[in-house]
Amino acid sequence: MLKENLAFVENQIQEACRRSGRARDEVTLIAVSKTKPVSDLMEAYGLGVRVFGENKVQELADKYEAMPKDIRWHMIGHLQRNKVKYIIDKVDLIHSVDSIRLAETIEKEAAKHNITVNILIEVNVAGEESKFGLAPEDVPEFVLEVAKFRHIRVMGLMTIAPFVEDSEENRCIFQLLRKLSVDIEAKNVDNITMRILSMGMTNDYTVAVEEGATMVRVGTGIFGARDYANL
Ligand SMILES: *Cc1c(COP(=O)(O)O)cnc(C)c1O
Repeated sequence: MLKENLAFVENQIQEACRRSGRARDEVTLIAVSKTKPVSDLMEAYGLGVRVFGENKVQELADKYEAMPKDIRWHMIGHLQRNKVKYIIDKVDLIHSVDSIRLAETIEKEAAKHNITVNILIEVNVAGEESKFGLAPEDVPEFVLEVAKFRHIRVMGLMTIAPFVEDSEENRCIFQLLRKLSVDIEAKNVDNITMRILSMGMTNDYTVAVEEGATMVRVGTGIFGARDYANL
């Protein structure tokens, strides 16, 4: 099933790229494996998947230990400051930075390891109360502050769009995030690029690709429905 799912998602991304005149290699597919057993991840690995997304620190750290070392791990979930130290040297990209205090902690821990950590700034485009992320209007100033940290590299923006019946409803959300990233890029801030736009999940990744996503985070579409009862 995983093989067919993966082939389907890959095909959908290719089609979306074609429709929007983009090259397939502009878009990275992140296989969101949260709640799934290592055996499922290993199956995906066997099919060529090398980029995995997790949203819990402990789970990411455990899977990191259990899985081959050529995998790139992405932290996509809300990150508590006291847990930064457990993943700082394991992740390729943190998608969910939304406060200066969190950025400060990442800076401190990265400095200890003498590494530079790649991050995205999470934006709550739709202003949903249940979601983390900065309000769009607060992002430009936030970027300037984070740019001062020497062990952090801001690579772009991330958003979690609302859950909607019709993915077309999220098109304007993706357009807004893209516009925000273009506006920030134009300011040419040192230590900042807006190369990455992480947007689109199982229900809306094709629309996100059409609107410029460079990373899509697909869980259910690859691994099937999640069962939270076992956790
Ligand atoms: C779980 C999760 C996803 C994947 O969701 P699906 O709808 O299963 O594709 C993407 N991004 C984040 C931040 C998530 O927590």
